[in-house]
Amino acid sequence: LRFAGQITGCEGYVESAAVGLIAGRMAACERLGREIVPPPQTAAIGALLNHITGGHIESIDAGPRSFQPMNVNFGLFPPMEFSPKSPDGKRLRGPEKAVAKKRALSERAEADMTQWLKATVAL
Ligand SMILES: Cc1cc2nc3c(=O)[nH]c(=O)nc-3n(C[C@H](O)[C@H](O)[C@H](O)COP(=O)(O)OP(=O)(O)OC[C@H]3O[C@@H](n4cnc5c(N)ncnc54)[C@H](O)[C@@H]3O)c2cc1C
Repeated sequence: LRFAGQITGCEGYVESAAVGLIAGRMAACERLGREIVPPPQTAAIGALLNHITGGHIESIDAGPRSFQPMNVNFGLFPPMEFSPKSPDGKRLRGPEKAVAKKRALSERAEADMTQWLKATVAL
């Protein structure tokens, strides 16, 4: 029995479809006797999967563990080494720094997801 969609702890149309896609791929791997390789946590779909399978379960004020259903957002991505400088070496601050950080996270996601797809697409 496999679950997909919002019942798994994600939130939103795209997220629910994304978890359905992964649930389907995992079911296919299982049926075909192939290794189940989850998508990289550095990409949005893998970060979401990590969140709903426990990676981001938080403790609040040492109280009971809590869980918040989640849309995909940059806060779910694992942190990365990031040098907040412009191409001409100027130190970035404020919104410029935030945009550059998101761009760096996106580039890492694209690279890792491309590799994962190459390795796993032929089910
Ligand atoms: C008012 C509102 C506004 C929203 N706006 C947005 C938005 O703008 N953008 C966005 O991304 N997300 C939005 N969402 C969230 C989004 O609707 C859900 O995250 C998404 O629809 C979940 O998809 P799902 O397929 O997992 O579940 P659902 O779409 O809830 O589908 C579950 C289906 O299972 C059926 N079902 C339930 N029990 C049984 C049963 N026992 N037997 C058979 N069938 C059953 C239900 O009838 C339903 O058709 C909104 C949600 C609400 C409530």
